[in-house]
Amino acid sequence: MSKSPALSAGSAGSHPTEAAQTVTQDQAEDLVRLIVARAGLAESPHVEWAAGTGGSVRRSRTGIRLSLGREILDDEEDMRFTIAHELGHIVAGHSELRTAIRTLAWLAVAIPAALLSLIAAGLTLWGTHGRLALVKFAPLLIILINRLLIRRMLQPRELEADDFATQQQCPLTARLAERYQERDRMEKAPGPARLARWAYPTHPSWAARASRQ
Ligand SMILES: [Zn+2]
Repeated sequence: MSKSPALSAGSAGSHPTEAAQTVTQDQAEDLVRLIVARAGLAESPHVEWAAGTGGSVRRSRTGIRLSLGREILDDEEDMRFTIAHELGHIVAGHSELRTAIRTLAWLAVAIPAALLSLIAAGLTLWGTHGRLALVKFAPLLIILINRLLIRRMLQPRELEADDFATQQQCPLTARLAERYQERDRMEKAPGPARLARWAYPTHPSWAARASRQ
């Protein structure tokens, strides 16, 4: 086994705190194999590299695919955390079809139920004015309810994946969280993209995630 720092997933305290350390694609894939073996994953994901940053996992017909952005190689901590976090989603079964079906089923029940109870409350409590206001603000209400449900359902999964990364000694450090926050701030996303992200908050804030470490 290589003695590369990228592979020393068990040696706490060896992480660079400031200086970015460039790692290779091979070292990153070695870390994937190391964590897969250590976590006892029955199925090893197929790693694919793409432009950009971050990572994602999805199940395809040919198995689990772990997609990684090449920019994570610019910073060893970034590479370690991104890989361990994404593998955490696989270990916890978040990429499984049954999890997706359960999520959709939950939304399919919870959204109409929340809307119906709001409408019922509007009809009984607020009279004609209340009814009019309810119709006017219905789109906003739907977005707010959706937002609450997404946070409740999806954000715990992100924290679970973060916890797995910490267990693998590849944590979201305060430095990384600050870096990601800065990157989000610099991102020139158009208004609709920002609104979509606000309405669909799949991830807790970086500050909230780092504060749990
Ligand atoms: Zn995630």
